[in-house]
Amino acid sequence: MKKKQKKLTVNLTMCRYKVIADCCKAMGWTQTEHEADWQLFWTDLSVGEERCMRLKRLQKINHFPGMQEIAHKCKLGRNLNRMRSKLPHFYNFHPETFNLPVDYKAFEKEFENNEGKGGGAKTYIVKPNDGACGNGIYLTRKPSNISPKLKSVVQRYISRPLIIDNRKFDMRVYCLVTSMTPLRAYIYHEGLARFATEEYQKVTSGNMDKTYMHLTNYSVNKNHKEYQANAGLEESDTNTGSKRSLASIWEKLEEMDIDPVKVWDAMERVIVKTLIAVQPNVAHTYKSCIPENRDSAGFTCFDLLGFDILLDYRGKPWIIEVNEMPSFDTSAPIDLAVKTGVISETLNMVCPTVQEARLLSEKIGGLGGGGAGLDHSERRRQLLALRKQQEVYYAKKFKRIFPIGNLSHEEPPPRGEPDEVWSFLGEDLGLNQKLEREKVAEYQECVRAASEVFEDALWLKLGKKASAERPRDYAGGMFQTFASAGQGSLMRQIARKMEEDAAAAAMPNPAYHLSEAPAKISSARGAPGQPDSLKNLLSMQQ
Ligand code: ADP
Repeated sequence: MKKKQKKLTVNLTMCRYKVIADCCKAMGWTQTEHEADWQLFWTDLSVGEERCMRLKRLQKINHFPGMQEIAHKCKLGRNLNRMRSKLPHFYNFHPETFNLPVDYKAFEKEFENNEGKGGGAKTYIVKPNDGACGNGIYLTRKPSNISPKLKSVVQRYISRPLIIDNRKFDMRVYCLVTSMTPLRAYIYHEGLARFATEEYQKVTSGNMDKTYMHLTNYSVNKNHKEYQANAGLEESDTNTGSKRSLASIWEKLEEMDIDPVKVWDAMERVIVKTLIAVQPNVAHTYKSCIPENRDSAGFTCFDLLGFDILLDYRGKPWIIEVNEMPSFDTSAPIDLAVKTGVISETLNMVCPTVQEARLLSEKIGGLGGGGAGLDHSERRRQLLALRKQQEVYYAKKFKRIFPIGNLSHEEPPPRGEPDEVWSFLGEDLGLNQKLEREKVAEYQECVRAASEVFEDALWLKLGKKASAERPRDYAGGMFQTFASAGQGSLMRQIARKMEEDAAAAAMPNPAYHLSEAPAKISSARGAPGQPDSLKNLLSMQQ
């Protein structure tokens, strides 16, 4: 007789979005309010280290501790500024940002330097640290308008955004991070374009207070009398109005002679580089609360991030903000379609499997253990292989953006499904190999710089002044210095963690497996060039 399969249980007591509950229900999962007995916990709040420490095997939570490094405006600005100082040519996609009050003097200096250069005064956008949904944001050209004491972010205003139908817009792009140790991230091919309700005009001191012209937040613009909600999912609905599909943006870009495939590729790159910037730091926090011998194999947490991206008049993407708690409100049909697709696929990809549970229940071999030859590291290897298969198999409209290159596919798919999903892996990769190699090299440089930045920050935290004698070799040097100086166990622990983080962040050998060519990705996955019907996304739930 066939064994009855246990249903997966999910705790949504701290999640207010109906769409998450609906997607879980459609997958046949059981909801529970039990505090500790569940496999998945989905919360609208960020997750602290203590909470992660309490996680049991096979339990998953929808945030990484420490992801605030990317999700707080001021931290994002600080992290990307640091990376820019190492690699200015790769980290030029976040508007120049000052964290007040700490950077007030630097901001004043920058402002004075610019003033004498002609071309008019630069415009800055001021955002209170604790603000969200556009609250408290204003534009200014005078530092004297900004309180030096207020905790806020002051950012160069992108005054020439790309304009469609005379309006400014930004894009909400979803990125699923399934591991930070090492980094594994996916981008969803559809998303939302949010339009300002008033026509855009050149910035002048007379129009800086026009919120409905400068801000693209839905929460702001929905209050305007000209806000146009979408009535349905027909193209005529989602190609116009105040909230549109990304597919409609690609069409408009083509009309403007801007190549959407290039724009999409550039968007992927800025997202990956943002994640690389914080990877060592988040991995460090993660490892401090999820010990290695827990066999969690780096997948106890995942994060579905909402990147807010603005295109400038040339089609260059700028990261404006990263939301760890993107809104899953589904009041408009377009929201329901896109978010149902994103969430269903996320749930499939992160869902623990029977095979993982079985592996974890096996005894570990060695002294007293009955398991035939399975040791911790072998189990970890097998768990990781299963996890990667699960992700590869279920990533249909999510495309992996890091690491680039194919994951291992020797083993059969995890749930015995047909083989055709794997067929794209054998495609000829010739044409765009050079491009892909360049991308790998670029990411490798970013990974190296991020390790250095993390090392610098940690070094300063430990109270050491960065000095000429300081070893530059992150993985080896720091460890040796601490160890040989015999500076106690804390130092050694930190050094060991840093060494592990550096190893975890290591890229796969670029010559090993090159990923699909971008053009093929676009046709296979419905990214620019092959817009997918939004109605299909709704059916993902079934
Ligand atoms: P909030 O978290 O309050 O929404 P954001 O940083 O997302 O704050 O900013 C709100 C809106 O302001 C964005 O959606 C965008 O339209 C606009 N904006 C923010 N930063 C810039 C910038 N540097 N240049 C141009 N527009 C910006």
